[in-house]
Amino acid sequence: MRRQIFGLTFAALPLAVALSAEADLLVRTTSDGVRTPSDVAPAPRSAGVEVDVLDRKMDPCTDFYQFACGGWIAQNPVPPDRQSFSRVSQLQEHNLTILRGILEASAADGDRRKAADYYAACMDDAGIEAHGLTPIGPDLATIDEILNPDDLPVLVAHLHAYGVPALFRFGAQTDLTDAANAIANVDQAGLGLPDREYYLKTDDRTAGLRAKYVALIQTMFGLAGEPADQAAADAKAVLALETTMATAMLDRVKRRDPASTQHRMTINELQALSPNFNWRKYAAAAEAPPLPTINVAVPAYLRALDTLVTLNSMNDLKAYMRWHVLHASADLLPKAFADAHFDFFNRTLTGQQAEPPRWRRCVADTDAQLGEAVGKAFVEQTFSPQAKADTLQMVHDIEQAMRQDVGAAPWMSDDTKKAAIAKLEAVVDRIGYPDEWRDYSSVRVTRDDALGNRQRSLLFNRKRTLAKIGQPVDRSEWSMTPATVNAYYSPDRNTINFPAGILQPPFYRAGRDAAVNYGAAGAIIGHELTHGFDDQGRKFDGQGKLRDWWAPADGKAYDERASCIADQYSAYTVAGDIKIDGRLTLGENTADNGGARLAVMAYLAGPGAKAKDKVDGFTPEQRFFIGFAQKNCGSSRPEAERLQAQTDPHSATRYRVNGPVSNMPEFQKAFSCKANAPMVRASACRVW
Ligand SMILES: [Zn+2]
Repeated sequence: MRRQIFGLTFAALPLAVALSAEADLLVRTTSDGVRTPSDVAPAPRSAGVEVDVLDRKMDPCTDFYQFACGGWIAQNPVPPDRQSFSRVSQLQEHNLTILRGILEASAADGDRRKAADYYAACMDDAGIEAHGLTPIGPDLATIDEILNPDDLPVLVAHLHAYGVPALFRFGAQTDLTDAANAIANVDQAGLGLPDREYYLKTDDRTAGLRAKYVALIQTMFGLAGEPADQAAADAKAVLALETTMATAMLDRVKRRDPASTQHRMTINELQALSPNFNWRKYAAAAEAPPLPTINVAVPAYLRALDTLVTLNSMNDLKAYMRWHVLHASADLLPKAFADAHFDFFNRTLTGQQAEPPRWRRCVADTDAQLGEAVGKAFVEQTFSPQAKADTLQMVHDIEQAMRQDVGAAPWMSDDTKKAAIAKLEAVVDRIGYPDEWRDYSSVRVTRDDALGNRQRSLLFNRKRTLAKIGQPVDRSEWSMTPATVNAYYSPDRNTINFPAGILQPPFYRAGRDAAVNYGAAGAIIGHELTHGFDDQGRKFDGQGKLRDWWAPADGKAYDERASCIADQYSAYTVAGDIKIDGRLTLGENTADNGGARLAVMAYLAGPGAKAKDKVDGFTPEQRFFIGFAQKNCGSSRPEAERLQAQTDPHSATRYRVNGPVSNMPEFQKAFSCKANAPMVRASACRVW
C-alpha cells in the first residue's frame, strides 16, 4: 500500500498497487512528524536488548509487550504533531533527516538537483500563499466548462493524469492468468473518507464524522470562492454522491480474496457494463495503449457508476470533482486550505493535534514523488555493501528455516509440500535499492511551483504506469523508495523487498547481538516470506500466477489453521471498545506469527546454536524475543487506533507482539511461563 500523496493518505488502494505491495510490514507511512530537527537524535539506539525501556514490574508471561516496551511507552508519549509514535517513527525521523541533508546540500546536480528544487518549492510557503489557487485554476476552469455529460470521460482522464482518483481508478496490473504481462485494470476509487463503512454506518460517532466532513467540504468550497448557500448545497451533494459510490464498493475483507477482483473482459464488454460512460473516449483521452483485455475489479461498482453518471446532475458531478481537486492539493495550497484540511483529516480522524514541521512533510513528499532521485545518495550514506551482504545472509537463513518448516508440517501432503518448496525456491530476494535507478529527466521541476511540480511528477508516474499495459512485467521495479521504513512481499512477482531504510537500527545493525538482529530484522524478513504463504499469497504460484497448487485436503487444513488465527485476533480490543477484525488482518497476523517462528528457527540453527551466555541477565532465546517485541514499541492516539482497526490490515502493535508469542512454545520455554499464563494460549494457533 504504497503511500499516496499527502492528503490522499486514506484513499482506497489501487489493486495494481495492492498486488505489487500488498503486504507491507508496518503501518502506513503518513507524513506525520515529530520533533524539530534540532533535537533529532542520531540513529535510534541499538546496543542489543534495550534494558532501560523494559517494564520489570510486569511479568513477561502476563503481558510480554508491556514487559518489553512499557518503559519506552512511558518515556515516549505521542507528540502533539503525530497520530502515533513508535520505533518505526523514530527511524523514519532519522531517515528523513538524512534525506533533508541531501536535499539541502548545494552541490547536487542532475536528478538530485531536481529533487532539491522540488523540496525547495515545497518549503516556499510564502510563494505558495502568493500563488493562491492559480496552480489549480486550469483544473477548476476545465471542470466548470464541461456542460455535456458526453465529455465526462475526458475530464475524468484529465484528473486521473494528475493523481486525482475521481470516480474510479485506471492503471496497470499483472495479468494473473500468466503473470508475464501487464494488463489494464479498472477499480473502484474516489471516496474522500477513509473507507466505505464511513458512509454506511449509522452510529453516532460515524454520523458525526460525516457531518464534519460535509462542513469541511463546504469550508473549502467557500475558500475557493463559492457563495455560502451554494457551497452548502454542493457539499451535501458530494456526500450523497460518494455514499452511492461507497454502497456499490466491495468491502476490504472481501477484496482480500484475490479472485474476487479478477474479471477479464474486452472493452466492448466493459462498455456494456456501463453504457453511459464512453470508455473508448476515456482511453483515448488517457493516452492509453491498445486495450485488448481489461481487468474489471468490481463489475457491480461500474454498473452503479453508470447509474450515477446517468441520474446525477452535471452540477453535482462537477462539485464532486472540484472537491477532489481541492482535496488532493490542499497541503500545497494557501494556509487557509491546508489548515481546514488538516483539521478534519488529521485532527478529527487521527487525533493528531498539531501540524508536523514543514520540512518533514516536504522531505516526505519529495521522497514519495522523486524517491529514487535521492535514494542513491541515501544508500551511499546508510547502507554499506557489507550490510547488504549480511542482511542477504540472514534472508537465506530464514528461507532455509522455511524449507524445514514446510518439510516438517504434519498437515501437508508430500505433493503440496513439493509445490510449496518450488514456490519458495522461486522467491526473489531484493535488498536495499534497485539495480537500475529511475530516470527523472523528463520531469520538469521549478523552484517556485510546488503544486505544479507534484502534478508533473504524478503525470510522469501515470505515463510510466500506462506504458506498462500490454508489456512484460518488470520484476526489477521497486514500489517503495530506498529510504522507506517498511518492506513488502509482491504476490504477482513473488519477490520479497527490503528497502535500505528499514535495514537500520533498531531493526538491524551490523555486529550487534545476533539474537536481537534475528528477533527484529529476522522476524521482518520472515514476515515478508510468510506472506507468500498466507491466506492470499498461497493462492499464487511461484511465477505470480493465480493458481491453486494445493491438494484439496491440504487447502482445507490450511483454512482451519488460518481460522484459528482469525478467531484469536477477533477477540482483541483497541481504543476501549473496538474489536480487531480477524479476517481483515488475517494475512498480516499469519505473517507476524510465521515471521517470529522462522526467525527463531533460523537463529537457533545459526548464530544461536553456540550462544549460551546471558547478556544483561537474559538468555539468547530471551534476547531474541525481547528484540522481536522492542522493534514494535509504540503507541497511538485512540482516534488513530480506531481508524487503523477499520482500514488497516495490520493489527495494533500490542497484538503484533502478544499474538505471536502466545502461540509459541519457544517463548513459553524461554521465559519458563506456566501453562495457564496469559501469554500461553491453551489451544495455540499455528499455520507456519
Ligand atoms: Zn505484512
